[in-house]
Amino acid sequence: MTQSAREWPDTVLADGTERLRERDVRDMNVTAGRVLADTIRTTLGPKGMDKMLVGDRGKVVVTNDGASILDRLEIEHPAAQELLRVAESQRDCIGDGTTTAVVLAGELLAEAADLVEKGLHPTTIDRGYRLALDRARSELAAQTIEIDPADTETLLNVAHTAVTGKWSDDEAAALLELVVEAAQSVERNGVVERRRITRTTIPGGAPTDSELVSGLAIDMGSSSTTLASLDVDLPTRIEDAGVALVDDQLTVEKADAITHVSVETPDQLERLADYEGAVYREQATGIADAGADIVFCQKSIDDEVLAALARAGILAVERTRQDELHKLARATGAEMVMRVDELTPEHVGRAGRIERRTVAGTHLAVVGDCPDSEQRSLLLRGGTEHVIAETKRLIENCLDDVTLAIETDGVVPGGGATEVALAATLRDAADGVAGREQLAVTAVADALEAIPRTLAASAGLDPIDTVLALRNRHDGGDETAGLDVTTGQVADMVDSGVLDPVQVKRHAITGAIEAATVLVGIDDVILATSDDESEHGHDHDHGHEGGHGGVEATGGYPWAVGH
Ligand code: ADP
Ligand code: MG
Repeated sequence: MTQSAREWPDTVLADGTERLRERDVRDMNVTAGRVLADTIRTTLGPKGMDKMLVGDRGKVVVTNDGASILDRLEIEHPAAQELLRVAESQRDCIGDGTTTAVVLAGELLAEAADLVEKGLHPTTIDRGYRLALDRARSELAAQTIEIDPADTETLLNVAHTAVTGKWSDDEAAALLELVVEAAQSVERNGVVERRRITRTTIPGGAPTDSELVSGLAIDMGSSSTTLASLDVDLPTRIEDAGVALVDDQLTVEKADAITHVSVETPDQLERLADYEGAVYREQATGIADAGADIVFCQKSIDDEVLAALARAGILAVERTRQDELHKLARATGAEMVMRVDELTPEHVGRAGRIERRTVAGTHLAVVGDCPDSEQRSLLLRGGTEHVIAETKRLIENCLDDVTLAIETDGVVPGGGATEVALAATLRDAADGVAGREQLAVTAVADALEAIPRTLAASAGLDPIDTVLALRNRHDGGDETAGLDVTTGQVADMVDSGVLDPVQVKRHAITGAIEAATVLVGIDDVILATSDDESEHGHDHDHGHEGGHGGVEATGGYPWAVGH
């Protein structure tokens, strides 16, 4: 979310309790971890509390003693599982908005617990939450701002919002432009054809040295070293080139030759050399006759074949990755052959241009201007593997958001603006809802405002004052007012360029509300006070008491694990 949000307490599990962490508490990001930890703490109730020690620097440490509880939680506890599922679904389906989804789900659970305490029945909460979801979704659609794929400025804003607080502004500026350019360059009829973007890592330099290349950039690897040592002047650019793809290895099968042929006389040695030479020439001639100017080979190529090919003016690249071969096939129309002697002109694809380029000592063959699908390559740079990996991840996040903004309807104002607007709509709608569902609808409005509260807190501002200020602005008709965390000011989020793809919000809100209703309705997670409720005859109208017997007292804690 923001820099300071990353310093929030993390969930660390002691020996033997790694499983929960492996299931991506870390990836879900720190805030999700905190919410999960809070939820676990609440759900464990007073019995579990003494097993969980809050260590220094705010880390929640689960001792070995607590391990069994946590183990059971992981398998059986619906609340923890459901929160994990919300986070996983958001991450896997959308790629962004994990924090929003988990904060919201956690908040909705807390609200539900309060409602139960007030005497509402789970089915009432369920109905109210679903009503709120419907209303929120239609309001979200109404808030959506359509965007034109050619609107670079707006797309840059979307990308920037996705990485606020995760990248330094200098680095971000250069990389965001790359991301937007990449997305726009592969956009066709409103669809961002992501498979036409290839990421190639080139060690060295800074992330800001990364670039977008038109065409498919393929690392020539060791082939380039061999080519450099040859006394052949190979072209650095070929126009209208033939491209051959071979799954075979371009070698003489030496192992066979050596075990089966014993060389005793100089004459025999000469004949063996002749034989090898003939095979190499044959392979090279076969490729040349098929009309190839460049051959990509999944396996290795003997130096002699490389040399023979080079003399025929043909570039050869060995050990090309399988996925790259597939992309080459798609782009150039080439058909991969399993054996080099099967290669015919029909198998050879076309590329408008082939260029040899060297970037920071890495030799690349760039295959561009292809007839079937034009590729783009992002050359990612960075001093260490860690930096490159981080850059890759952030670029991926940005690309996800830009893609969503282009492909699914558009964007909504960020910085809590949309949540405050939805909350206002829900409060209005609640007035028209008969019965106790009204309270549940209002509870969803309150839960939505946890987003601006969280943003305010992470920006070091007072959450309550911020939300009040936002409500005032919205009441005054400024429906796009939100909190700009970079300035700490309430401002128009559209003017400030803080924009989230509407799909990120839609999925987060839907996932969170659905998870909460699932939990409210589950028999195993028993709202402890619902028994009191039935005894005292609250909420009769909504019936469905269902088997809630045999619940242990949980000392005021809302959730208890069924046995
Ligand atoms: P994460 O990506 O960390 O999981 P989310 O994507 O769920 O977090 O939430 C990020 C929130 O931060 C969104 O609500 C977004 O609108 C907000 N945001 C991003 N940039 C800014 C900004 N400059 N000012 C205010 N809010 C911002
Ligand atoms: Mg985000």
